Amino acid sequence: MRYISTRDINKKSVTSMEAIKKGIASDGGLYVPIETPKYLPNNWKEVNYYELANDIFSLYLTELSSSEIEEIVSNAYDNKFPSEITPCVTVGNLEILELFHGPTAAFKDIALQALPRLLSKAMEKSDNDNEAIILVATSGDTGKAALEGFKDVPGCRIIVFYPKGGVSTIQEHQMLTTGGNNTFVVSVDGNFDDCQTEVKHIFGDESFNDTLEASGMELTSANSINFGRLLPQIIYYYYGYGQMVKKNIIGAGEEIQVVIPTGNFGNILAAYYAKKMGVPIGKLVCASNKNSVLTEAINKGKYNRVRPFFKTISPSMDILISSNFERFLFDMYEGNTEICKSKFEELSNDGEFQVSEETKEKWSSFLKAGTADDITTYKTIKQVFNRYGYLLDPHTAVGWNVLEQQKSKLPTLLVSTASPYKFPEAVLKALGHDITNYNEMELIDYLAKMTNVPVPENLMGLNELTEHHDMHTSKVKMKEIISEILLT
Ligand SMILES: *Cc1c(COP(=O)(O)O)cnc(C)c1O
Repeated sequence: MRYISTRDINKKSVTSMEAIKKGIASDGGLYVPIETPKYLPNNWKEVNYYELANDIFSLYLTELSSSEIEEIVSNAYDNKFPSEITPCVTVGNLEILELFHGPTAAFKDIALQALPRLLSKAMEKSDNDNEAIILVATSGDTGKAALEGFKDVPGCRIIVFYPKGGVSTIQEHQMLTTGGNNTFVVSVDGNFDDCQTEVKHIFGDESFNDTLEASGMELTSANSINFGRLLPQIIYYYYGYGQMVKKNIIGAGEEIQVVIPTGNFGNILAAYYAKKMGVPIGKLVCASNKNSVLTEAINKGKYNRVRPFFKTISPSMDILISSNFERFLFDMYEGNTEICKSKFEELSNDGEFQVSEETKEKWSSFLKAGTADDITTYKTIKQVFNRYGYLLDPHTAVGWNVLEQQKSKLPTLLVSTASPYKFPEAVLKALGHDITNYNEMELIDYLAKMTNVPVPENLMGLNELTEHHDMHTSKVKMKEIISEILLT
């Protein structure tokens, strides 16, 4: 399989290993596979996570042998997850695919346990022995998941930028307590978009990249702009569909809808890829919080990032520039890199772009979108807990509420993107408990006491860990701090 940049007019292709190693194309576009392979398991009732991953990785990573792929998959998932990697639980008449049972209790782990192995393989196959410098912009969950994935991995260093005050206390504490001698965590005055935009600039800064190259280093990305982040996310849509067949909720081949709490459009893009590959997904529902830029883009065909930025109780979705929408649009434009390039240049220069009515029609039959604000999210958490005893995290609660706003009657799979214990303050408030006398770390135990829902093992004892990182910078000085870390 070859990959091209969404913005390359000449459509020069690279291998999967090159795409993963570079992370983002030098023209600012994102790597996409030149075609979509088809894949169906032999028997939906008997899908096995490892087999799915081995089979599907092989279709996309054609330069790797099956034993190389098996090794990557087992190193990623053995002992890092419970025996069922992504359990599917029935709540009312929904199926919830729980993606939060990895080391950092958010869905990002599923891709970020695999990515370091993919990247090491790509470095090994490349013709130089540069050190990989992984730059990450995080809205909270990617940072810790990437730090855990890359901590002490030989041949690389990782630098994470997060918006000061823009992540939950638990998320921040998780990041700052990371050990390992190749990890750096820097808070930034600004929001997630500022961090992501500046990181993208740095990737495109030729002279800076040359300077690093001269010192034997090269930059890459662990954000979902890296195709290596998306690929592992395709697997669980196959797995989730298989569980619905196994439970006799649907017959094999019957259409479902999938509801996805969305920020950077990565997780939902993986669902879209799964659909194109053959999973019978009739509808994709994109759920946003009050930062409803995607809802407007999907429903009206106009992407406008010039709007107020809201801090919400679902901080991992506080995003106005959803990078992966570019990969989706590339598909809607049937691989026309020229239009794609001009649309995203417009977005960067003028702050908005509009697609034609005809283009919007292409997605309107299968892609739906909606928004839930904080008040609605609080209410949803409370209602669902009172009615079913099931505790939603604020991101998943946005998904639940947006689903209720839809009219579709298709059997539904809602993906749960984080453990409620990552956001105990919001969840306790939603349930109506007084939290004034607790610090956020103590809130984990308090939430457990009030709900009897077990605390994920990986979040226990977080309170006792000491913080190792205290770097801070402004958004214009991110490059300087990278130089300080790497070149002095
Ligand atoms: C990252 C994240 C999201 C958004 O996922 P995208 O792939 O960026 O759309 C939603 N919920 C949680 C908990 C997250 O960490």
